[in-house]
Amino acid sequence: MSQKPILLWLRQDLRLTDHRALTAAVETGKPVLPVYILDDHAAGSWKPGAASRWWLHMSLTSLKKDLAELGSPLVLRQGRSAQELCKLALDTGADAVYFTRAYEPWASALETEVKDALAKTGVAVKRYSGSLLKEPEAIRTQAGEPFKVYSPFWRAVVSSGPPSTPLMAPVAIKALKSKIASDKLSDWSLLPAKPDWAGGFREAWEPGETGARRRLTSFVADAMANYTDDRNRPDLEGTSRLSPHLHFGEISPNQCWYAAADHAAAAKGKADRGLETFHKELVWREFAYTLLVHWPDLPDAPFRKEFAAYPWARNTAHLKAWQKGQTGYPIVDAGMRELWTTGWMHNRVRMIVASFLIKHLLIKWQEGEAWFWDTLVDADLASNSASWQWVAGSGADAAPYFRIFNPITQGAKFDPDGIYVRRWVPEIAKLPDVHLNSPWLAPDDVLRAAGVTLGKTYPKPLIAHDLARKRALEGYEQVKLANTSAK
Ligand code: FAD
Repeated sequence: MSQKPILLWLRQDLRLTDHRALTAAVETGKPVLPVYILDDHAAGSWKPGAASRWWLHMSLTSLKKDLAELGSPLVLRQGRSAQELCKLALDTGADAVYFTRAYEPWASALETEVKDALAKTGVAVKRYSGSLLKEPEAIRTQAGEPFKVYSPFWRAVVSSGPPSTPLMAPVAIKALKSKIASDKLSDWSLLPAKPDWAGGFREAWEPGETGARRRLTSFVADAMANYTDDRNRPDLEGTSRLSPHLHFGEISPNQCWYAAADHAAAAKGKADRGLETFHKELVWREFAYTLLVHWPDLPDAPFRKEFAAYPWARNTAHLKAWQKGQTGYPIVDAGMRELWTTGWMHNRVRMIVASFLIKHLLIKWQEGEAWFWDTLVDADLASNSASWQWVAGSGADAAPYFRIFNPITQGAKFDPDGIYVRRWVPEIAKLPDVHLNSPWLAPDDVLRAAGVTLGKTYPKPLIAHDLARKRALEGYEQVKLANTSAK
């Protein structure tokens, strides 16, 4: 008797190792058909941006190759997920769909829609975890509430016990006997064509599970021991750069957790400090997901409602200058250009550029969030919205609103030799270190000797730092007033 196959509905879990849904499907002994559906309708305004689409194309290409080595095709479909899965179940005779849970509000709604549609046709649905260390519902305060503050959240994650140990990839996947029609990936037009702006992306990244594993291995071996100090230095390769791989599920957080722990154990104490800091960063990711799951309007509205009263400016020219890395503040411009060229920006610089947009230019954090959404290869609804709100001061456990990053001193402190700024803002590379983060303060002869003409070869600053700081603080006074009158 022929066995009814299982459809493996792939989403943000584009890997074969530590994949609970895949392992469970293979263990049934039935044929398994992996399927990826491009469903922009379901994601609505949070459909993948241009940089994410580039990554998705590359990641699916890699996954297809890895699946072929285990004897399985990858079926691609574009359209409404529920309809496509019902059609595929009908065409293949599948009686079950297995998938990994996703946490975006639209993704949760989609799971319900898919489950209801398949139930009507008698197809069973099984959901597995695998994208987080712990399920958001499992980590709660003693009062049973979701955490709003990171430190107790971290302690609760640690005291909830170790994450599950990662699973191996299956040795083979039993394929269906018949061939199932699939879209051609190239027909989805996920890659940029005219112009092809992805040259810097190709140089910087190796999307896919093999690339993710390589990154993890080199990070724990080469950078983890010094991670606590070096993670703030954009001029060094001090962080893992695993964020896009984690976002697309090419590697699981559990694999990262254990690879780091195993390396630290082998290093006999030499990497313990870096290990704890790295684990804490993985838990910041979990914290962002907890916030998104429990407060689903996190991407759109201030978590602390009184911040809706902030008197934002509308200035398209300033927004454009920020997006293009033409603000006249070298560390800000370096970050924005790194983002444009590689699809990624160092975390310290993300905080600086976000603070600059919000507090120097008084532009709504949602504008920055949207730009990051389109340009980051690691664009992630939970981490992006939680982080923008953190910088704005409107988030849960956010930086205090009066913390206004000084782009001059931040640049000098975290890029002390100017390597990062000189790499991304080459037109001021010849300025001496002392003037690199504030070219407008350099004497004329120094500017001339460095070939810099302000306002011509490099912009004058959009706004003076002291004035910007004063203005931002005045704006926050209105938030305070709104808060007091609401009480
Ligand atoms: P590492 O330092 O190696 O950290 C390891 C992993 O921990 C990261 O890959 C990431 O998954 C997680 N992590 C680290 N820091 C944070 C953090 N602050 N919040 C949540 N998770 C964290 N991260 C995204 O993945 N997607 C985003 O869209 C995103 N948007 C951001 C927007 C702003 C304004 C800011 C300030 C931060 C944003 N971050 C985002 C968080 C952070 O900047 C990146 O996760 C980090 O820079 C990725 O580099 P890495 O992999 O080398 O990090």
